[in-house]
Amino acid sequence: MLASRGRRQGALAMTGMILTLMAAPGIGQAAGKAPHARNVILFIGDGMGVSTLTAARIYQGQMKGKDGASNRLTFETFPNLALVQTYSADSLVTDSANGASSMLTGHRTINGALGVTDKVDRSDCRSAQAARVDTLAEIAKSHGLSTGAVSTAAITDATPAALYAHVGARSYQGDMAMPQAALDEGCVDIARQLIDAPETQRLDLALGGGAGFFGQTPRRDGRNMMQEFARRPDSAFVDTAQALASLPNSTRHVLGLFAGNNMADETDRPTATPTAPRLVDMTRAAIKVLSRNKKGYFLMVEGALIDKAHHVGEAHEALNEVVEFDAAIAEALALTDPKDTLIIVTADHSHGLTINGGARNSSILGLAPEANGQPRMGGDGKPFTILQYATGPGGPALNALRQDPSKANLADPHYKTAAAIILPSAAHGGEDVAAYAHGPGAENFHGLIDQPAIFQIMRRTLGLPGSVH
Ligand SMILES: [Zn+2]
Repeated sequence: MLASRGRRQGALAMTGMILTLMAAPGIGQAAGKAPHARNVILFIGDGMGVSTLTAARIYQGQMKGKDGASNRLTFETFPNLALVQTYSADSLVTDSANGASSMLTGHRTINGALGVTDKVDRSDCRSAQAARVDTLAEIAKSHGLSTGAVSTAAITDATPAALYAHVGARSYQGDMAMPQAALDEGCVDIARQLIDAPETQRLDLALGGGAGFFGQTPRRDGRNMMQEFARRPDSAFVDTAQALASLPNSTRHVLGLFAGNNMADETDRPTATPTAPRLVDMTRAAIKVLSRNKKGYFLMVEGALIDKAHHVGEAHEALNEVVEFDAAIAEALALTDPKDTLIIVTADHSHGLTINGGARNSSILGLAPEANGQPRMGGDGKPFTILQYATGPGGPALNALRQDPSKANLADPHYKTAAAIILPSAAHGGEDVAAYAHGPGAENFHGLIDQPAIFQIMRRTLGLPGSVH
C-alpha cells in the first residue's frame, strides 16, 4: 500500500519540485518520496502555551498526590521538541483560525480566516475562493488516506474548520450566522462546507459539538445535514458516547455531534451532558474508524476548552482541560505503532498565564507563600495567587480595588483567576509555543520552526504532494 502511494507521487514530481522551492527553509526534501509514516495525528491544545503546560504538569502531579514540579505529562516524554513562531499575516498575536490554518495549509493568513492565503479580503466574502489553498486533510483524502477531526468545540469552530473550510470569517459557522449580503453573494457557511465538500476531499470523520449549525436549530436553507449525512453509504450520525462506542465495523464515515455548540467542560460535563463522550472517547473512536483504511490516515484532535477556560479567566478549569487532553494523547499512543504513526502535540497560540512564586509543595491553585509558609502580601497589603493572568475577567473593575483571593474559594474550577487588566475575554499570548513529536518524521521538530512548516513536515512524512491535484 505504501509503495503504491509512492508510485502515484511519481506522476506529481513536477508539482513536488515547485512546492519544494516554496517550502520553509531547513526542512528541504523533495516531495514524492515514499512516505515515512502511514498515519499522522496532530494534537492541538488550543491556547496551551508553555506556562499553561508547566502549571498543568504541576497540577496533574499534585492531583495524584505526588511532587508536582517533577511530574511529566505524557507528551512531555516525547523525544523531539521545537519552539514555534505563531504570528499571523496581520497580527503579532494569532487567533485560532490563522494558527490552525497555517499548520494545515502551509500558508499564513489574516486572523479570522481559514483555508486561504493572506490575499483574502475580510470585507469581500467571495475573495475566499480566489485565495483558497488546499488543506492537508483535502490532500490526504484525495490521495487515498482517511481523514478526521475531533474537537471539544463545535466542529465548525476555527481549529477543526481549518481542515475543510475556506472562508474569510470564522464566525460563518452556520447560515444563520452569516449576513444576508454574504449569502446573496453565494458564500457558503462552514457547516455546509463540511457536508457538501466533494467526496474525494471530504472528511471521513468529524466529532465534536456544533449540532446547532447542522440543522438541530433550523437553518435558513431548511436542511438537516445530520440526517443527510446518515443516509450516505457506510455513514453514521451519532449524538451519544454510547452510540459512538458501538458503531458497526462497516462504518467508514462518521459525524458525531454531542452539543448544540461547544461541548461542556470537564467540570460540567458529568451533570450538564452525561451522555456526551470525553475527548479520550472521541479520540479512541476516531482512531478505530480511520485505521480501517490500510493506506493510512490524517487525524487532528483539538483540546479546545483549554482556550475557552483561559478566555473566561478560569485557570483551574484550563488545567483540568490540559489533563483531559493529555489522557487523549496517552490513548492515541496506546492505540498506534510508533513505527508507522507520527504524533505531534502543539498549540495554536499561547495565553497570558503566569506562575508567580510558590514553595515546592504549594498547591498550584493556591496563594503564593513567604518562606515561613504564610501568604506573601502584595504592595497593597493583600495576598495573591500563584497563577495570574495578564488580562481577563478576573481583573479589577473600573475604580475598584483588587480582590483579596484569600477570601475566595480557590478550589472552585470556575473561580475567576486574578488578572492585571480587566477584559471580558482574556487576550491570547504572542510568545512561541512548543511542539512535541514522536514517531517517524519527529526528527524534523528541533530548534525554532515557523508554524506553516508544520504542514510541510506532515505532508512530507505522509509522502504527499502540496496540493490535491
Ligand atoms: Zn482563543
